[in-house]
Amino acid sequence: MNHDVIVVGSRVAGSTLAVLLSQQGHRVLLLDKAHFPSDTLSTHFFRAPALRVFERLGVLDEVKSAAPPLTVLWNYIDGHVLSDPVEAPEEHLRYFLCERRITLDWILFQRVKREPNIEVRTGAQVKELIQHDGRVTGVRWSEADGIHEANARMVVGADGLYSTLAKSLEPAYENQFPVRRCMYYTYFQGIEPLEEVSLAEHHFVGDSLTYVFPTDANLTLVAVSLPIDEFPSFKKEPLKRLQTHLDSLPLLKPRLRHAEVAAEVKGAGNIPCYQRIPYGPGWVLVGDSQQVLDPWSGMGIDHATTHASILADSLQRFLTDAAAWDVTMSDYHAQARQWSEKTYRRTSTYAADLRPMTHAALARRGLVNH
Ligand SMILES: Cc1cc2nc3c(=O)[nH]c(=O)nc-3n(C[C@H](O)[C@H](O)[C@H](O)COP(=O)(O)OP(=O)(O)OC[C@H]3O[C@@H](n4cnc5c(N)ncnc54)[C@H](O)[C@@H]3O)c2cc1C
Repeated sequence: MNHDVIVVGSRVAGSTLAVLLSQQGHRVLLLDKAHFPSDTLSTHFFRAPALRVFERLGVLDEVKSAAPPLTVLWNYIDGHVLSDPVEAPEEHLRYFLCERRITLDWILFQRVKREPNIEVRTGAQVKELIQHDGRVTGVRWSEADGIHEANARMVVGADGLYSTLAKSLEPAYENQFPVRRCMYYTYFQGIEPLEEVSLAEHHFVGDSLTYVFPTDANLTLVAVSLPIDEFPSFKKEPLKRLQTHLDSLPLLKPRLRHAEVAAEVKGAGNIPCYQRIPYGPGWVLVGDSQQVLDPWSGMGIDHATTHASILADSLQRFLTDAAAWDVTMSDYHAQARQWSEKTYRRTSTYAADLRPMTHAALARRGLVNH
């Protein structure tokens, strides 16, 4: 098959983009070094923006039925409880989901497989870009049987935080903030619920944030985001440190009496915030390869899927010869940045210290002085 577009990376950004391009009639080669179903490091919590894109892909019902919808946003902030229904402009999207990536990415991967215009290859690790006259024209990748190569009108890097495309092309950073926090998480079985409905529970104590989100497979995700100073000691004994931390949460500790840890504790202490220039001659980046957010705000999936949806519409104009490359890419860049601006600023600012944010939330409700 001759391809119009090569997409590297087949998770939330890459699968979304590949399906939308295929629906527009373009031929896509989708490459991922992983074999699916496959997990990845993430606390996998998302909201209406991702749900909207999943609806566009035709997988919303499938995604929704895999994990309990979290219809109440419940915040414990230093002794105060704030509880509100989840809001969204569309009534049918008024919930959050927390769905393990082994489940979510598999639903997306199966969606990809149903598209006639996508050739998908897994276990396919892109090693280098092919370039002619300063323009990216294709990729070379390795599979179990050796090295392969393909050419297309453009190559898209949806290849995440450690993007091979970004390493090779070295796009400039538009914004950069250092690593401020670390995050660790695991899954529990048997946590006593606070209410009958499923809550998106956030426990803010000082500068720490703990999530407790029911997820798929009858598990509950428990994640903690802490200042980066705590990373070296947490890394040494993550389970013990996590348990000590959970014991310090007054509205969680009693509910853990009969609960069991059901998985290894995983985490990261190397996630900064940044935005890179996302395009150049023959190449474009989408998802974490071009914008990374500290995971405390749980926004990566909303942004990766929404940017992929914006990119599909911009590429459509280029691929149908309705507009030139630079025009369509500058449009993608501007729309993506505009869509992310508020969250990017908020996530990167409060990564340094969550307390001004939580104090303001309490002050707005008259629970503390301004
Ligand atoms: C600890 C942690 C917790 C997080 N929690 C949340 C959360 O609660 N909610 C949220 O929304 N976001 C969260 N995030 C962020 C979220 O996981 C990312 O924003 C999201 O996964 C980005 O999706 P992506 O498709 O751009 O990249 P990825 O999900 O990273 O996918 C990239 C894909 O590219 C493939 N790939 C990479 N290099 C190559 C290559 N050379 N050749 C072929 N394939 C390649 C990989 O195998 C992978 O499948 C968290 C992140 C971390 C680290």
